[in-house]
Amino acid sequence: MLNIVLFGPPGAGKGTQSEKLIEKYGLIHLSTGDIFRANMKGETELGMLAKSYIDKGQLVPDEVTINMLKAEVLKRDNPNGFIFDGFPRTNAQAKALDQFLAEIGTSITSMISLDVEEEELKMRLANRAKDSGRLDDADPKVIQNRIDVYLRETSPVKEFYAAQNKWIKIDGFGTIDDITKRLFDTIDAL
Ligand code: ADP
Repeated sequence: MLNIVLFGPPGAGKGTQSEKLIEKYGLIHLSTGDIFRANMKGETELGMLAKSYIDKGQLVPDEVTINMLKAEVLKRDNPNGFIFDGFPRTNAQAKALDQFLAEIGTSITSMISLDVEEEELKMRLANRAKDSGRLDDADPKVIQNRIDVYLRETSPVKEFYAAQNKWIKIDGFGTIDDITKRLFDTIDAL
């Protein structure tokens, strides 16, 4: 199985690039943000809980997120592999994911980080707010909070994969197609 963690700050382009990767490599895309938003829309219990964190730019608690992710993986029969988008976002999530994948006889192939500078991120998120309807993109204070949470809690997850020689950083600045090409070249070389 090819299991990729697509990593990067809010607005780095993980969702956009995931679309390209699932098409080319036949992978299943699991975006924790998308799954939470679908639950918020359906007003499920999980959705209500997630909303109380997401609207403030905070992380949903690890235990809730990890259990949800495991359930999503187990729903799929015979996958070629997964793209994990927006997960793991904390070291506890990374450890839980490794342990869970080992239990089902697989592992992470690589973590690929999209590297984008903060000013560019803020611009992209403000633009996305115009048509996504995402409340967490519309408020500069919430955006700043998400970036701060990223720097404090999520960014260290790189070290977790670097210690296993699984961390690859690519430049996330440029056109969508430029970045897709960098990703394809990186994955083809794995
Ligand atoms: P972005 O990458 O633009 O921040 P996402 O769609 O990945 O957006 O996530 C939106 C929000 O969902 C996050 O700000 C966070 O509140 C919540 N969330 C998503 N993934 C996780 C996760 N792995 N752990 C905790 N909270 C998460």
